[in-house]
Amino acid sequence: MPEPTQRTAIVTGAARGIGAAVALRLAADGMQVGVIDLDEAACAGTVDAIARAGGRALAVGADVADEAAAEAAVERIATQLGEPAVLVNNAGVLRDNLLFKMSVDDWDTVLAVHLRGSFLMSRAVQAYMTKAGYGRIVNLSSTSALGNRGQANYAAAKAGLQGFTKTLAIELGKFGITCNAIAPGFIVTDMTAATAARIGVDFEQFTQATAKTIPVQRPGYPEDIAHTASFLVSEGAGFVSGQVLYVAGGPRD
Ligand code: NAP
Repeated sequence: MPEPTQRTAIVTGAARGIGAAVALRLAADGMQVGVIDLDEAACAGTVDAIARAGGRALAVGADVADEAAAEAAVERIATQLGEPAVLVNNAGVLRDNLLFKMSVDDWDTVLAVHLRGSFLMSRAVQAYMTKAGYGRIVNLSSTSALGNRGQANYAAAKAGLQGFTKTLAIELGKFGITCNAIAPGFIVTDMTAATAARIGVDFEQFTQATAKTIPVQRPGYPEDIAHTASFLVSEGAGFVSGQVLYVAGGPRD
């Protein structure tokens, strides 16, 4: 089914990694893209790459966990680019530690960015989507939602996002809005590189060792998640809602 050409998408945490790949892919799919990250200048690489490929994008600096900033970012994108029809809640951080060493700040930061941020961004865009009678929301969960040593905060946030996703699907379905989650497994990004660095392992070796544990015998790449997001936000995916799609090179749920 061809995509309408004028849809506007918002991707958070899109300066790099999975978010950048999703932004590029949605632009290639014909959407104009609001590229949100903490630092507006850091979004330049993504915005320039979209422009070089013939697309249109706007860089917006905002902390998605900050209510006023999240709402202002959505309003600015609606005004300068177009009213959002698609939102991909991708911004994320890690503060890994075993429970007995995990600080309250580690807990609060991770819950704030992933859960509060997705809530604030979704609440802001739904005003436009319900008015238009169309919308697509995708939340980035993780296989860590199933439990992962050293990630009590992150696992709780990513499991919470799954419940959040299903509830938005129920509440917003009658307005033509779908909401789904992608739960990636191991994806090669700065985030997984930071995990390797934290445990003192060479990233290339870490990646190769992890790949051996994955049924398809390779690591995931940001483009694998971008491809999945492209499907979930497409016009034709309107009957897919409230789902959690594990994109992990094998079954993980
Ligand atoms: P990444 O390379 O660390 O990129 C995350 C981006 O989010 C960064 O640009 C970061 O900005 C931005 N960000 C952080 N806090 C933010 C905030 N409060 N407001 C706006 N932007 C913020 O991570 P990634 O690997 O691409 O992961 C993207 C998403 O996929 C995350 O939700 C992650 O949990 C999820 N995921 C990743 C994997 C994986 O294996 N990589 C697996 C499962 C799920 P700064 O650079 O300024 O911090």
